[in-house]
Amino acid sequence: MSHQKPSNNEDAYSARRDAELLRQQRAAAQQAAAETERKKHFMKCPKCGYDLITGDWDGVQIDQCTHCHGIWFDAGEAESLMKTSAPNILARVFRAVAKGVTRR
Ligand SMILES: [Zn+2]
Repeated sequence: MSHQKPSNNEDAYSARRDAELLRQQRAAAQQAAAETERKKHFMKCPKCGYDLITGDWDGVQIDQCTHCHGIWFDAGEAESLMKTSAPNILARVFRAVAKGVTRR
């Protein structure tokens, strides 16, 4: 017999390494799946799933659903609207958005 059996220590090391590789592969696969799932929802209406389009209303970016016409503000946009000194800015923006909806 010329073949020498690896020692138990080497077996244990190899098993640990395989388990770690497997764990890393699973984690990478899970991450890729989560990424794909996120991309599927990017710029999609959370209510009905149709596409969102970004419009510029008085310099404020508002995402609007092409189907149910729901309106989404990005973080900070609603806040900066509220801080502006222009009177009734929210009413003006919403009126502009509503006009955009009925125009379509
Ligand atoms: Zn929608």
